[in-house]
Amino acid sequence: MPHIKYLQCMICGKTYQPDEVKYVCPDHGNEGILDVVYDYDAIAQAITPASLAENPDPTIWRYKPMLPVAPDAAVPPLTVGGTPLYDAPRLAAGLGLKHVWVKDDGREPTASFKDRASAIAIVKAQEMGAKVITTASTGNAAAALSGLAASVDQPNVIFVPASAPQAKIAQLLTFGSTVMLVDGTYDDAFELCLEAADAFGWYNRNTGYNPYMSEGKKTVSYEICEQLGWDAPDVIFVSVGDGCIIGGVYKGLYDLMQLGWIDHMPRIIGVQAEGSNYLAEAWEKGEDVLTKPPIQAHSVADSISAGLPRDRLKAMRAVRESDGAFVTVSDEAILAAIPELAQKTGVFAEPAAAAAYAGLRKAVDLGLVSPEERIVVLSTGSGLKDVASAMKAAELTSAQPHHVRPSLEDVKRALGQ
Ligand SMILES: *Cc1c(COP(=O)(O)O)cnc(C)c1O
Ligand SMILES: [Zn+2]
Repeated sequence: MPHIKYLQCMICGKTYQPDEVKYVCPDHGNEGILDVVYDYDAIAQAITPASLAENPDPTIWRYKPMLPVAPDAAVPPLTVGGTPLYDAPRLAAGLGLKHVWVKDDGREPTASFKDRASAIAIVKAQEMGAKVITTASTGNAAAALSGLAASVDQPNVIFVPASAPQAKIAQLLTFGSTVMLVDGTYDDAFELCLEAADAFGWYNRNTGYNPYMSEGKKTVSYEICEQLGWDAPDVIFVSVGDGCIIGGVYKGLYDLMQLGWIDHMPRIIGVQAEGSNYLAEAWEKGEDVLTKPPIQAHSVADSISAGLPRDRLKAMRAVRESDGAFVTVSDEAILAAIPELAQKTGVFAEPAAAAAYAGLRKAVDLGLVSPEERIVVLSTGSGLKDVASAMKAAELTSAQPHHVRPSLEDVKRALGQ
């Protein structure tokens, strides 16, 4: 059995055993997202920093006793987690900071952070003997579920907005998913997916609905802290759409605090696009996210474009409990961040991923971080996910290729010689 005490409704605090409810608090319907509460004494018996140091498995499954899966659960074969944490001195220096690291989750098997959650979804679906697993997504959660499902031959149905970037749709088709291109927004795709899952009895991976997704995402915090020798950073920057990643980042740190493996809670700074600023606005104005109406979201960063962030309760908790903040960044700043991050670290990020770095820039301007602080920026998805945006970003920096005939003369001319 996993080391779970109970599942607890984020709204009413009511607790349930995992087999009593399927996804959400019955008293609160789709809004009643559940939090997984662990038995930390039992976890401490099963795993320690010392035992981890001896464990050669680099994947998220090295933390299995801290995850909501049984010790003997079969896990998908793809290598999820174990992504690099790069020291980024030039990036830091450019901002007048001393210590900045970039956690590159573009290096996941399907090239985004979402693999951390989808890996858990596959295990939970198979645990329940689900014939079909489904999700709605702006694209990356879809690609993640699609790829991980392919790795274990698990039939799946995916709902994405028809406007999703080509590369993400190509992944779905290549992995052999049944793909529903929804003529509408991500929010429309989400509602449709919930309805279909209900009607056909499919296992539902949806973000901010399935309580286990943030449990997969929390592994990034375990990795960051372990990679820093259990000396937790001071600040973590994370881009935010639905709020599941930021919620997971907090949960991982919370677990480590409960276990006594780290001695302070880093401040978590959520970065939203100006055109998709639901949570940032709610935080700024002190609004109740249970009653705040959806907004019309639009951003070049498709992965963080969400009119009604589905995991908003956990996202707000992350910022509140970590003494963090939200910042917003313009589409121009997001696009500018792509080549800047790439040229100063070698990490090629999609717009939503580069947004976290744009957020760090903004935070420096706002005085939210100080030069001595140890700062981690999550890069959540590969730049190859959205080549059109990368080309647009390159255009904005006036980076131009030289058009040459196959002759050395032309090369010389191009070099100004
Ligand atoms: C999904 C995603 C995010 C945001 O995660 P949420 O859980 O929706 O807040 C950020 N960056 C990338 C690349 C993503 O795919
Ligand atoms: Zn409830």
